[in-house]
Amino acid sequence: MGLSLQDGHDEIVLAVEAVSELAMRVLTRNGLSSAQAEPLARAMAAAERDDCRSHGLQRLLGCLDTMAHPRFNRNADPRPQEVSAAATRIDADFGYSLLAFERGLPLLVQKAQALGVSVLAINNCFHSTALWPEVEAITAHGLAALVMNPSHSWVAPAGGSKPVLGTNPIAFGWPRQGHPPYVFDFATSAAARAEIALHRRDNKTIPVGWGIDSDGNPTTDPQAVLSGAMLTFGGHKGSALATMVELLAGPLIGDMTSMQSMDFDAGAKAAPCHGELVIAFNPALLGRDSIERNDQAAEALFGAIAGQGARLPSERRYRARLRSDAEGIRVSRALHDRILALAGG
Ligand code: NDP
Repeated sequence: MGLSLQDGHDEIVLAVEAVSELAMRVLTRNGLSSAQAEPLARAMAAAERDDCRSHGLQRLLGCLDTMAHPRFNRNADPRPQEVSAAATRIDADFGYSLLAFERGLPLLVQKAQALGVSVLAINNCFHSTALWPEVEAITAHGLAALVMNPSHSWVAPAGGSKPVLGTNPIAFGWPRQGHPPYVFDFATSAAARAEIALHRRDNKTIPVGWGIDSDGNPTTDPQAVLSGAMLTFGGHKGSALATMVELLAGPLIGDMTSMQSMDFDAGAKAAPCHGELVIAFNPALLGRDSIERNDQAAEALFGAIAGQGARLPSERRYRARLRSDAEGIRVSRALHDRILALAGG
């Protein structure tokens, strides 16, 4: 099964391809079509490689729970539809989002290259992945990218007390010559729900500002937040950004808000099912024929940030990527054993 480069006592070291093969075996053995499983397995391996472990192999168990949702379609076969000169729609048909993204990408890129801007609307997708792999797939074509999606309504609006908004990630990418792209990708909630659950498991308090109890009072008790509501980052500003994501990746593209997605889940605790909005911009067409000068201005901006010791988002990931490519990926033996069991040994 793939390549084990070197074994330690508590960890084993795997090549990126071996992590991907392992995930692929688990997913297909549990009934997911190869077409659906391939991009998901690659994204999990990329997350392990870039040291984004919460989106790596440990997601596999949750993926199997999602596949057990009565509406999940293990054989979804999404096909892109041209809506207009600039817009493409792809119905994920209640499979995972990534195959729909991959199949919509060529039209998104082609239209952005021709028109300067282009939109891909993905509908009816179960979503459990980070957004940066999609952003990087777009910047690889010399395009800037903006990607967002709702989730489940766990988050209260600033000044409110009841959950309405999702954790609603926003990701952005800017292509760079001779460097990996500038990419950020974060949730609009102050903290990840899984992080709050980890604090509860470890009997630890959480920082003020992560959430409120069911009466709307600030609390540092993780259980009170999990049964109350999470909060956005940045007070009313994060709340407005999360609302924007609800609208742009929900009603704008004819899909569910986080509240509707939570109702759709009907207590199954699957990954959220909803839409996703992907926008691509072509700097070569929008940049007033001054590509070189524009690139220099962008690089001066990045230099002014990094030059004072501030780090650019994704730098940590890119460093981890170099390390993993050279040394392989360390996976805890306990996790590996659990996953092998799911893959049938
Ligand atoms: P963080 O709050 O850690 O923010 C992550 C982003 O900020 C990364 O781009 C990271 O770069 C960058 N960053 C972190 N620290 C710094 C720093 N000190 N200086 C500069 N940049 C920094 O993560 P979140 O918990 O908000 O989100 C994590 C992931 O979870 C995302 O990939 C998101 O897409 C995903 N998510 C997915 C959801 C879904 O519906 N599928 C829902 C919510 C979240 P780096 O990676 O290099 O550290």
